[in-house]
Amino acid sequence: MSGFIQVLMKLLYNALIHTQNPAQPTASALVIDRERILAVGETNDLFNQYPRAEGEDMRGRVIVPGLTDAHLHIRHYALSLQKIDCEVDTKEECLRRVEERVKKSKPGEWVFGHGWNQNVWQNSPLPAREGLGVRGFPHASELDAIAPNNPVYLTAKSLHAAWANTHALKLAHIAAQTSDPHNGQIQRDDRGQATGILLETAMELVGNVIPEPSIEEIANAVEKAQRILWKMGLTGIHDFDRRDSFMALQKLHAEKRLKLRVLKNIPVELLDEAHALGLRGGFGDDWLRIGNVKVFMDGALGPHTAAMFQPYIGEENNRGILNMDGEELFEHGRKAAQVGLGMTVHAIGDRANHEVLNAYEQLRAYEKENRLPALRHRIEHVQVIHPDDATRLAQLNVVASMQPIHATSDMLMADKYWGLRRSRLAYAMKTQLDFGARLALGSDAPVESPNPFWGLHAAVTRRRADGSPSTDGWYPEQKLSMADAFAGYSLGPAYAAYMEDRLGRLAPNYLADLIVLEKDPFICNPNDLLTLESSATMIGGEWVYASTVTAPGTAL
Ligand SMILES: [Zn+2]
Repeated sequence: MSGFIQVLMKLLYNALIHTQNPAQPTASALVIDRERILAVGETNDLFNQYPRAEGEDMRGRVIVPGLTDAHLHIRHYALSLQKIDCEVDTKEECLRRVEERVKKSKPGEWVFGHGWNQNVWQNSPLPAREGLGVRGFPHASELDAIAPNNPVYLTAKSLHAAWANTHALKLAHIAAQTSDPHNGQIQRDDRGQATGILLETAMELVGNVIPEPSIEEIANAVEKAQRILWKMGLTGIHDFDRRDSFMALQKLHAEKRLKLRVLKNIPVELLDEAHALGLRGGFGDDWLRIGNVKVFMDGALGPHTAAMFQPYIGEENNRGILNMDGEELFEHGRKAAQVGLGMTVHAIGDRANHEVLNAYEQLRAYEKENRLPALRHRIEHVQVIHPDDATRLAQLNVVASMQPIHATSDMLMADKYWGLRRSRLAYAMKTQLDFGARLALGSDAPVESPNPFWGLHAAVTRRRADGSPSTDGWYPEQKLSMADAFAGYSLGPAYAAYMEDRLGRLAPNYLADLIVLEKDPFICNPNDLLTLESSATMIGGEWVYASTVTAPGTAL
C-alpha cells in the first residue's frame, strides 16, 4: 500500500431504520463518516448525494441505535463469565467441565465454577466409599481426582453453598479441628473430616484466600465480555464497580481495546479525594467518562434490608436498614456539587427513596442559591415508592434508573413481604414516566443477565420468560410501551450521561453506534424479544460484531 489514507464513507441502505429522532422517526439509509453519522434518509437520495460512499446492503433488516445498560457491574460480570458453567444435569458433566478447565490451567492456578445443584443431578451413582457425599452432596475427593494440583472452588446455584477440593481447603486452613464460623457450617463426614462442602458463612473461609485478579486479568475479562454485550445489542454501559474496574477500563481504553461507551460512577468513599482533585462529572471522552458519586441508602428486598416506612409482612419489628438520612446524604451531595459531580443513590425501600428525595430537594435549592448547574442526579432501582413521593422524581428532575427484569424476578417476594398495597408502586416504571421522570433502564448484571431484549420484554409484558404470573402480567398498569421502554435503553441513559446531543439516536452528528436486527422489536410478538439479538453491532462507525450467518456488508 502507498501512503494514501483513504477514508471511505459507509452508506447502509435498504434498511428499516428506527432513528429515535422525532424529526425523522424512520428512514431506509444512513451515511457514516468515520465515527459519526453524516446523513439519514432514503436509499436513492443518499446514493445520489454521496456517490463515492461505499454501500452496504442491509437487505431489509432493521437498524436501531445501540442500546445502553444504565446499571451494570462490569468487573463482576466479566469475571463471572470466566467461571466454569456448572449448571448441568449431572455431576459427571460438571466434573468433566472442571477436568477440561484444569487441563488448560497452570499448576497452582485457581479454578472457579458456579451453578451446580445436587438436587437436580440425575443418575449420579451413590458415593462408592463410606463417608463420602453427605445428603447427596458431592465430595472434595471427586475434585481431587481430576485436580490434584489446582485449588478448585465451585459455588452452588443458590450461592449458599460451595464445593471445594482438598487443595483449596488446605489453602484456607480448613482441617478437622477447624470450628464452624458463626452462621456457617463446614460439612463433615461421620469421622469428622471436612467433605469439601461449605455452607453459608463457611464459604468465606475459602473466599478470603482467593487472590484478587490483577488489573490485566480484569481487563482481559472485560475485553471478552464486550463481545457478549455487543451480541446482545449493547454498545454502552454505566458501570458501578470500583477502582480496579476503572483501572482495567482505562487500560483497555489506552490500548484502544475499549469498544463500549462507559460511564464510570465513583464510590462515595472516594468523594473527598475526588473533591480534592476537582474531578468533574463528564471528565473523559466519548468512550470512558466520569459519571456521578454512588451512595448506598439501604439494602435489598431479598434479605429484607431495604428501608421501609412500615414493617415487612410477618416481621413486625423489621423496617430494613437505612444507611444514612437525607441530611447526611445532602452533605455528600453538596460537596459533590461543588466540583460538578452529581449523585447516584441506591434506594430500594420507600423510606430510602423518601430520604433521597428529601436530600435532592435540598440539593436543588443549594444548586440554585449558588448558581451551580442543575446536575443529573439519579436514584438507582426506585424499587418501591410511597404514593406521596411518586411525583417527586419528576418534580426534582431526577433520573429514575430502573431494572425491568427485577420486577418480574422479584414479584413473588414483593407481594409476599411488602404486600399487595405497597407492590402497586413497586418497580413502577410507568408511574414514573407518566409523572414526567426520565427513565434509564438496565439490568444490574451480574445479578440479572444484561440482555437488553430480556429487559425490554419484562418492561412491556411484566411477565417472566415462562409467561408467569399471567397473560396480563404483574400489575399490568405498569407496562411500558415499546417506544418508552426502548427510549429507556437509549435516550434515557444518554441523557443521564450528558450525551444526549450525540448518543441514543441515529441522526446527523450522532455517534455511529447501532445494531442490526432480524426482527422489528416495535412490531414483533413480545415473546420474540426473548430470542432477539444483534446480527451486527457498530460502534463509532466500526463493525465490532457480526454473526457469522448474517454478516452485513455483503454486496449484492
Ligand atoms: Zn448494582
